[in-house]
Amino acid sequence: MVGDLSIKPTVICIFGASGDLAQRKIIPAIYDLFMNDLLPDPFCIIGLARTSLGDDGFRQQLRSGVEKFSRSGIHKEEDWDKFASAVTYSKLDYQDSTIYKSLLEQLDQGWQKSATKIFYLATPPTLFEPIVKQLGQSRILHGNDQYRIVIEKPFGRDLESAQELNKILADVFDESQTYRIDHYLGKETVQNILAFRFANAMWEPIWNRSYINHVQITVAEQVGVGRRGGYYENAGALRDMIQNHLLQLMCLVAMEPPTSFNAEEIRNKKVDVLHAIRPITTEDVAKVAVRAQYVSGVVDGKHVPGYLEEENVAADSRTETFAAIKFYIDNWRWQGVPFYLRTGKCMGARASEISLQFRPVPHHPFSEKVIQPNRLAIQIAPEEGIMLRTQAKEPGPVMKIKPVEMHYSYNEVFQVSSPEAYETLLLDIMRGDPGLFMRSDQVEMAWTVLGSILETWQNDRENPLPSYVAGEWGPQEAENLITADGREWLKPACLECEIRKEGSDGND
Ligand code: NDP
Repeated sequence: MVGDLSIKPTVICIFGASGDLAQRKIIPAIYDLFMNDLLPDPFCIIGLARTSLGDDGFRQQLRSGVEKFSRSGIHKEEDWDKFASAVTYSKLDYQDSTIYKSLLEQLDQGWQKSATKIFYLATPPTLFEPIVKQLGQSRILHGNDQYRIVIEKPFGRDLESAQELNKILADVFDESQTYRIDHYLGKETVQNILAFRFANAMWEPIWNRSYINHVQITVAEQVGVGRRGGYYENAGALRDMIQNHLLQLMCLVAMEPPTSFNAEEIRNKKVDVLHAIRPITTEDVAKVAVRAQYVSGVVDGKHVPGYLEEENVAADSRTETFAAIKFYIDNWRWQGVPFYLRTGKCMGARASEISLQFRPVPHHPFSEKVIQPNRLAIQIAPEEGIMLRTQAKEPGPVMKIKPVEMHYSYNEVFQVSSPEAYETLLLDIMRGDPGLFMRSDQVEMAWTVLGSILETWQNDRENPLPSYVAGEWGPQEAENLITADGREWLKPACLECEIRKEGSDGND
């Protein structure tokens, strides 16, 4: 996050370099860092995968990704040429130990000898273990900070597999050399949660059970599984989104104030939240967790197929594309305050947002029977900003109360486009700052928290799986989950403001 910008010369070896992630995220992010003069000098990228590409073929493939997905784009040929000259490609059989040996020997030549060497595993998760083992067999890397390993999500598929992967990693790399990516943590608006909470004196006194009625965290996608059905069938919304992104957001909202921005301090405070989550027993699962699958519907004006009709999805699949869970955090700050988390594909809108709903006023002297409680919405995507709903007097001769929103948008205030999450994360890896990455105990605790839900859902082959029409906001069962508590799912702030604006435009 913050730190010394003088970064040591660096080599990034990307395993699975021919794939989607390298093309859409990793390389465009490195290119943007290059265009902003943030890369060390010298610097190079070695792409590794099974496909026969050659240096030029690989560069050509990357170029189209950079043109499409980088923030800077390619405006001058000389910029691209300079960047591309630092990129090479080697064909790799992931199981062939001689290739790893010669890769490590190559990394010992010339300036690369004293450089930071980053092994970025952008392969399917089944390859994480063999690649790490091969690297460990070829050289003693443990404890040598010159070598760093980056692991993409998903990190395991349950507690047992995450523990196993952590063990394999720990045999070859020290924890301080290990960077487990949850790209949500690199987003500017997610990092801003800490600034918002801990750089402003006004929030801390009311950031607790005395003032907050409940918290909602929504990560809604409009896209379906598209061509990633093969991957998604083995994941589902719980593993793909809740175990990592949503639980991490919950930790940032619920954590205690850190004493410093030291990486370990922040990670300790976050893991404390996971430890304080009230365990969900198998008997409780049906009461606090809902899953569902989308059926065909209309999203953003377009007809979309149901999940079971998607490519590479089994006709009788029970993989959930929607999940909603209610958590409690058993500590002094949050006792009795529910945290409702929900995420889904093919939902009514794309929106990632955290909403803190405050308690109603204890008494009000106005004629309105009900006054909407204050709401603070931390908007992560697509809007980036903060919305605070308060009440105001409507202009006119009588005292009439109306909700109004105070809003600040990141783009309007700062007038610069935010770096992509992958830019921030890659720079932190080069600097050796692990603060925004998942530590082994965090990942394991997140799996522990979800253990009973994973198991119950996996074993339940009989109860009909709830469904929701694509383009809607989830199944009726998710509504029931929250209305049973006398609450309702909040519309994302951007939609609510729009609706109110349209309403008031109509009245004028
Ligand atoms: P891809 O399926 O595109 O795989 C990446 C590369 O790995 C491929 O180009 C391929 O290269 C190699 N590969 C694929 N399958 C196999 C296989 N069975 N055996 C050996 N090699 C194989 O994946 P993505 O790029 O989409 O994702 C990479 C990693 O990043 C995954 O772990 C994914 O979960 C994670 N991730 C991806 C995101 C995305 O948006 N794409 C988002 C977040 C995380 P070759 O055949 O040339 O060796």
